[in-house]
Amino acid sequence: MTIYNFAAGPATLPAEVLQEAQRDLVSLPGVGISLLEMSHRSKPVVEMIESAEQDIRDLAGIPDNYQVLFLQGGASLQFSMVPMNLLTPNGHADHIVTGNFANLALKDAKKVGNIRLAGSTEDSNHDCIPSQEQLDLDLAADYVHFTGNNTIYGTEWATEPATGDVPLVGDLSSNIFSKPIDVSKYGLIYAGAQKNLGAAGATLVIIRDDLLPRSPESLPSMLSYNVHAKGKSAHNTPPVFSIYILGLVVKWLANQGGLECMGRLNNDKAKILYDQLDSSEFFSGHAVPEHRSRMNVTFRLPTPELETQFATEAAFEGLVELKGHRSVGGIRASVYNAFPKEGVEALVSFMKQFERTHG
Ligand SMILES: *Cc1c(COP(=O)(O)O)cnc(C)c1O
Repeated sequence: MTIYNFAAGPATLPAEVLQEAQRDLVSLPGVGISLLEMSHRSKPVVEMIESAEQDIRDLAGIPDNYQVLFLQGGASLQFSMVPMNLLTPNGHADHIVTGNFANLALKDAKKVGNIRLAGSTEDSNHDCIPSQEQLDLDLAADYVHFTGNNTIYGTEWATEPATGDVPLVGDLSSNIFSKPIDVSKYGLIYAGAQKNLGAAGATLVIIRDDLLPRSPESLPSMLSYNVHAKGKSAHNTPPVFSIYILGLVVKWLANQGGLECMGRLNNDKAKILYDQLDSSEFFSGHAVPEHRSRMNVTFRLPTPELETQFATEAAFEGLVELKGHRSVGGIRASVYNAFPKEGVEALVSFMKQFERTHG
């Protein structure tokens, strides 16, 4: 039986990537020992990291005045690293809170410095994205932080908030490279690898050069973007294996036809699921239709008991990890880049069957 893994992260990886990693694990071609055994200063590892970086630059069209860094600590470390580096003395930043991770980012940033709440969707249980008019942005802020896709609630920004000359910082952990991206709109982008990019352990950070001098000299070196940029992501031992998997995933994305193609595919996949939600009274989506996520489709059934039964019976059919996050309940189908369209179609037929027998 084919297993379709709807996990929210770590999440489905392309089968080709796993197969290549398995084939080459014991002995890297042309080297003869495992990548796991090699110095991060050795030529093959340095070249592997450089080519992962170059492939990311090519895939996303990253301008030359941006650094591409592979850090550790997950997206969660960025919640505090961003303010430690980007807040200026006596300065403040604006945060937009649209979900759980956005809220965690706000809480950690407040421990570091002066943060304003510039918008929140908490009143409607994060079922939407604020409009530009609803935002209360301060032109004097050091930066604006937002969360591109709300993994737990299943909402997504269709376009970035407009912040004028104030640098935009995006946590794109759960929708990075799922469609074309205009990096030049951002001052900084960060994403944990384990949703759309690969295996847990590496955090991708893309930062505009002019922001690097903001890193205070007094910062411990491991927390400084400037130090990591100068060290070309190898200030200390980087998460070599995780970067390697990320590199394979980025090559795979390019082979699929790049971000335009991924954008179309991800739209198609999400539409199949949302069309099913919209055509049924039995299932109800959490997010308002205009702000639905293409990555995490969240919905409810008439009772919590039916939701548990749905997830349990789906697992028997090979549709696993459909239970929603504990903070919102219900069902969540995460369908990131590597999740196949066939799996979405299988879920929709299961939904129809479940509604017929339990509706
Ligand atoms: C998963 C997730 C995080 C947390 O990532 P870690 O790598 O586990 O720290 C942060 N932000 C968003 C949007 C996420 O989806």
